[in-house]
Amino acid sequence: MNLILLGPPGAGKGTQAKTLQDRYGIAQISTGDMLRAEVKSGSAIGNEARAIMERGDLVPDAIITAMLALRVQKPDCAGGFILDGFPRTVPQAEALDVMLGEMGLALNHVIELQVDDAALVERIAGRFTCASCGTGYHDRFKPTQQAGVCDVCGSHEFIRRADDKAETVAARLDAYHRQTAPLLPYYQAQGKLHHVDGMADMGSVAKQLAAILDAPASIA
Ligand code: AMP
Repeated sequence: MNLILLGPPGAGKGTQAKTLQDRYGIAQISTGDMLRAEVKSGSAIGNEARAIMERGDLVPDAIITAMLALRVQKPDCAGGFILDGFPRTVPQAEALDVMLGEMGLALNHVIELQVDDAALVERIAGRFTCASCGTGYHDRFKPTQQAGVCDVCGSHEFIRRADDKAETVAARLDAYHRQTAPLLPYYQAQGKLHHVDGMADMGSVAKQLAAILDAPASIA
């Protein structure tokens, strides 16, 4: 099963993609995580992407599409994948259609997590992840059980993303509305678009997703 989770930054795509990865045994592909790894490693792509990401703008389509093309061929994608943060522009979506066609694969569903812009800044500004195992937390909505200790692996090191500052969040939301929202009619026209209420709590969003993906016609 090959899926896309669409939605503005902070809608909960990453959190839900992790749940889907475990539930359906399909690979989560986050182009944001891939780019952050490139920035950290100091690669040529990372060096080009760093300033763009810090401004909250989108990395050029050619770079991101080439990265994705290599990623979907990795063995962990054999059973399917969930794209989290890709595509973000219509040219990326068109490139994905070509790429999947060449691989003899199809996209099964595109699911939009619908969230109010006003809620996003608060959601994004409070989030942090464990530096060791990557578990996601939020100052207000999902704090660690014991202050400063990861619930999952016990690490004391946490990371806050450089682009999660309020100023950058506004630019990222603007990029979403201008460049990514046109994907909604694109996938609507393909008959693949579903919507879930991303303002609901994490468990109920997961249930809404399962209802779509477990519907008999969805199982591929
Ligand atoms: P994310 O973790 O998905 O919020 O992505 C963080 C940043 O990485 C974005 O604000 C963009 O600068 C960049 N990025 C991630 N995915 C893409 C993409 N598909 N196209 C262009 N830029 C991207």
